[in-house]
Amino acid sequence: MEENRKKGILYIVVPCYNEEEALLPSAKTLLEKLEELRNSGIVSEKSRIVFVDDGSKDRTWELITQLYHAHGEITGLRFAHNRGHQNAILAGMMYAKDYCDYTITIDADLQQDINAITRFIEEYEKGSEVVFGVRNSRNTDRFFKKLSATMFYKIMRFIGAKIYENSADYRLMSAKALNALAEYGEVNLFLRGIIPDIGLSSSVVHFDVFARMQGESKYSLSKMLTLAADGITSFSIKPIRLVFGMGIVALLVGVGMVIHIVYEHYFGYTTDGWSSILMSIWVLGGAILLSLGIIGEYVGRNYMETKRRPRYYFWDVLSHDGDCHDKAK
Ligand code: UDP
Ligand code: MG
Repeated sequence: MEENRKKGILYIVVPCYNEEEALLPSAKTLLEKLEELRNSGIVSEKSRIVFVDDGSKDRTWELITQLYHAHGEITGLRFAHNRGHQNAILAGMMYAKDYCDYTITIDADLQQDINAITRFIEEYEKGSEVVFGVRNSRNTDRFFKKLSATMFYKIMRFIGAKIYENSADYRLMSAKALNALAEYGEVNLFLRGIIPDIGLSSSVVHFDVFARMQGESKYSLSKMLTLAADGITSFSIKPIRLVFGMGIVALLVGVGMVIHIVYEHYFGYTTDGWSSILMSIWVLGGAILLSLGIIGEYVGRNYMETKRRPRYYFWDVLSHDGDCHDKAK
């Protein structure tokens, strides 16, 4: 029976932005890997590699077109503008979800160890709907990237996002997980944060990261900061609550100050105007912060609502309702 088990259709999704140097060597490696997976009966013959051109300004699309004509297993998608890594991955996955059993997303420079793919698939076969790739170390990263990454994950943890430290956008998603992801309506995407939020069964695979072989990093500092800001702001309105908290603290201090000021005014030595100025600073400051916090709370809630995230997603449904064919039309 085991030999007859249906082999899954794998779609490998590769985001590409100005990757003319890396594209051909990476495509060759990926094609070999896919061939190996097919020959050893791990994945279906219908498996594919999907290159998503994120509005490249170099010859990336030309190369993808060549690859498409030369290999039946290659698919190309192209954005009219540069929409960023997260959108490129999402587009590839949303395209693939109607054809595949599962996708694996990987960067075009293949910095991530492609031998982990087999382990991803093993975890899927064992029943995981999502398999997260977590990097073993950050040895290939520069000091600044290491530091900023550590800080970022600390902040994410603080605001309560369920996120794996050092997780990457190298992961497996089953068609079911992809359909759940499709329900998330937000525009500012931070996949590493949303995907754990889906809550289907998942597991983790550790992998090594190598240095980039061809071309330069396409993640500019500003792109990295935007991603971090998306990550932090898309998950919580805690920063707004911080303002609210500050307001309460300032008001409490204000009340203390009023008592102190009144006491000093009558029993101590005060300069003219000191009492009234200090009182207005603390009490008004506190009141302003608090009001900002209250307004912020509404703005924040509005923000969370406008995302139109799904309230729930069924993990499984056990029902006999399919047997009822006599429902009045
Ligand atoms: N990428 C993209 N759009 C962008 C920037 C990057 O699709 O605006 C792709 C890029 O082609 C690569 C992946 O995202 O496949 C990761 O980028 P890169 O390797 O440059 O980032 P790093 O490894 O330096 O973090
Ligand atoms: Mg890279």
